[in-house]
Amino acid sequence: MKAMMLTGLRQMEMKDIPEPILVNPTDVKIKMSVLGVCGSDIHYYTRGQIGSQVVEYPFTVGHEGAGIVVETGQSVKRVKPGDLIAIEPAMPCRECDQCLAGRHHTCRKLRFLGCPGQAEGCLMEYIVMPEESCFPLTGRLTPDHGSISEPLAIGVYAVKKSGGIKDLKIGIFGYGPIGMSVMLAAKAEGAESFYVTDKIDQRLSVALKEGASGIINPLNEDVVEKIRDNTQLGLNAVFECCGQQEAFDQAIAVLKPGGSLIVVGIPEFDRWSMNVETTRRKEISLQFIRRQVDCVEAALEMMESGKISVANMVTHRFPFDKTKEAFDLVADYSDGVMKAMIDF
Ligand SMILES: [Zn+2]
Ligand SMILES: [Zn+2]
Repeated sequence: MKAMMLTGLRQMEMKDIPEPILVNPTDVKIKMSVLGVCGSDIHYYTRGQIGSQVVEYPFTVGHEGAGIVVETGQSVKRVKPGDLIAIEPAMPCRECDQCLAGRHHTCRKLRFLGCPGQAEGCLMEYIVMPEESCFPLTGRLTPDHGSISEPLAIGVYAVKKSGGIKDLKIGIFGYGPIGMSVMLAAKAEGAESFYVTDKIDQRLSVALKEGASGIINPLNEDVVEKIRDNTQLGLNAVFECCGQQEAFDQAIAVLKPGGSLIVVGIPEFDRWSMNVETTRRKEISLQFIRRQVDCVEAALEMMESGKISVANMVTHRFPFDKTKEAFDLVADYSDGVMKAMIDF
């Protein structure tokens, strides 16, 4: 079968590798249908690492996948051949202290698709996953919904971890697919108003379409001033979704006393910094987000029930053999790209 593998910085090649086989009775073999290109895939593509996780070439990334079940182990009950499924990329051990505490996402022995040193990703024609990672796409859910359930689950989780945003004024700083996922989840949970920032105007127009009360491009406008003018007392919560120090600082500046900063973005630097005086006097709560746990089903249900529409999420599509073009597009933030999909 074919696999699109990273072979160096900004390099990838289509290689022929053996098809994976079922090993455990709970394994499911899946033929890939679509894959969403994620910001973290791009970090590995352009920088070869995220923090201490370093790529050894050749390596396959990709973890926002959906496909069709082609074979199941003897004890698999959740899915059967022919089923369309969303693939949850996390494969926790289910035995460590974190797993036993319900924190599968910080499992001590976590294997995650497309994560160096853990598991190859799903930029390949077939993959084998444990049945716990397979979520059937029911009703009107398509493979695109399955793929989008991965970033959307992070939005659902971030909103959940914020401690509730119903009727509150919130900020979303950085409006890529994760910022948009946070917005869709926050909208579904009844936030009162949304102030969205991004450096790409096309993304801000999408935010406006999704109901943002204010959009700000930090390249042309003063984020702090504009939000203060519009809200007087400030925001209750800000979701940092771009991994930028300036967004972090703006968030602290526009939060009301007692407000929360939820950090979802993945920076390209090693240390955040923060102002001692303002964070302390305002008694800001700080919550970091590590992917998500137990939110895939909720994300799928919200899309199926129509509580969340992801109609504005996918902006570009590429065939499997043009994966490099998709990665270059996303890496360069070209053409107002939000989510680029690979069709197998
Ligand atoms: Zn992702
Ligand atoms: Zn574990």
